[in-house]
Amino acid sequence: MIFQSHYAPVNIPEITIQRLLFSNPCNTPLDKVIITHGITDRKLTFGQVMDGVKKFGKALRQEVGLKPSDTVAVFCPNQLYYPVAILGVLCANGVVTTVNPVYTVPEFRFQLENSGAKYIITVPEFLEKTLEAAKSVNIPKENVILFEPMSGYKDVEAMIARTRLTGEQGEWDDFSGERCREQTAYLMYSSGTTGKSKAVELTHYNLVANIHQYFRAVTWLDADKDVVLTFLPYYHIYALTYVMHFMIGIPVVILPGFNIETYLGCIEKYRASFTPSVPPVCLAMLKYPHLNKYDLSSLKRIVSAAAPLGLELELALKNRLDILVVQGYGMTEASPYTHAVDMEKDLPESYGSVGRLAANMEAKIVDEDKKELAYGEIGRLLLRGPNVMKGYYRNPEATAEAIDSDGFYDTGDLAFVDHNGYYFVVDRVKELIKYKGLQVAPAEIESHLNEHPNLLDSCVVPLYSADEATELPFAFVVADPAANPRPTEKEIQDYVAARVAPHKKIRGGVRFVSEIPKNPSGKILRRVLRDQLQQSQKQA
Ligand code: AMP
Repeated sequence: MIFQSHYAPVNIPEITIQRLLFSNPCNTPLDKVIITHGITDRKLTFGQVMDGVKKFGKALRQEVGLKPSDTVAVFCPNQLYYPVAILGVLCANGVVTTVNPVYTVPEFRFQLENSGAKYIITVPEFLEKTLEAAKSVNIPKENVILFEPMSGYKDVEAMIARTRLTGEQGEWDDFSGERCREQTAYLMYSSGTTGKSKAVELTHYNLVANIHQYFRAVTWLDADKDVVLTFLPYYHIYALTYVMHFMIGIPVVILPGFNIETYLGCIEKYRASFTPSVPPVCLAMLKYPHLNKYDLSSLKRIVSAAAPLGLELELALKNRLDILVVQGYGMTEASPYTHAVDMEKDLPESYGSVGRLAANMEAKIVDEDKKELAYGEIGRLLLRGPNVMKGYYRNPEATAEAIDSDGFYDTGDLAFVDHNGYYFVVDRVKELIKYKGLQVAPAEIESHLNEHPNLLDSCVVPLYSADEATELPFAFVVADPAANPRPTEKEIQDYVAARVAPHKKIRGGVRFVSEIPKNPSGKILRRVLRDQLQQSQKQA
């Protein structure tokens, strides 16, 4: 059967994201402080953000010659002006691709080339890496813009400061109707169910839809009382969604990363009421011995998403803090929100669940033969709705593999739904590994391992660490019998670590095997190795 959302459908306007912002959907006062940097305490009001977005968009066209549909890569940790810059690019009718700030030069280069980026916005600390990657794809130095002033470079704040708005039409780009469904706003990277990282094309319509779907579910959010504290990296759509809460008048506090003392100190200082999180951070909070040093009385809700939280941890944290701790669920390919728990009430039937299906969405749960299953039956979760991506950029094969002819996107997760409409994600069958909520594509790590001069084959699978509440990449490798000396586990770990961003290191370990099991057509039987690993973990 096809499961419908229990929410009444929302009307989704065919407008651009910038039009949605400038329409000020929640009548936010222009002088309201809406974005605060948790370390520097610098602040932006709603009016400053709106003004800055328009001016930056205009400056991009006037000063650096950005043309419609040009792609701009944003490569840096969370910044005060990060959301302003992104929305400014959209105002110039550009496309944004956000880059993981811990990427190595080759990883960054891949994204620049794959997305066809023509401009880069970064910070002075990342300039060396940026210029190296930019040069390799022929992006001139003049197309590199910084978030902070530096001689020889344009910077976002100065560009905004010297731009004048005249109120004439066309100062910021806009369109409506069918084009909103076609025009890509974000190119965000995800490996989907298989293979290496791919650019997910999210259109203006996808993103405007997701904001409206989210509105429907979060009736409890109160612009006069709530303050959102964000620390997850904005290159990932989960975090980016939360910083965009300022659009609906909710003040947002930005942290460039996670440090437990800074995080708790910011909850106290800014009276944060709501914080999006990930399971390892929930665990770190639960285990932190000095919680009572902080006044956390403003904190009312934590939502954990990006990876499974586990019922025990969910309840333990809820009891320790005496607040609502619930899970959310979604994915880059769905802009990202697809499921949320009703946070107005503490509902025992929702414990352990990722929540109910978003408005305007439909779901199917299917078995291996694609037969549709009923309530309570576990199968692969497929989703359809206005927030589901246009496709993988310039990759029709991967798109066709991910979205069926009826428009259902295959999440690659195993789930069931109960009669209350609560979804429970029980396993992930796609290749993806999630290290602390961040994506690690096994295929990418395997390609590095397979280039190792003394290895013949490899397979990378997740190893769950309860101590850290996260999966760790673990490698099975076949050593070349002729290799002398035989490579060691440590040498292989170091070899990979030297080539990838830190979250992709094979922290789980390395096991030497005589062969990697494959089906007759040569496809790796990951499940066999994953089960074998789990088995040996249980026995240990
Ligand atoms: P991403 O595109 O990086 O957001 O990854 C999406 C994937 O993260 C989903 O398909 C799930 O496998 C996983 N995920 C997200 N939220 C949850 C959750 N609450 N429980 C279990 N898995 C989750």
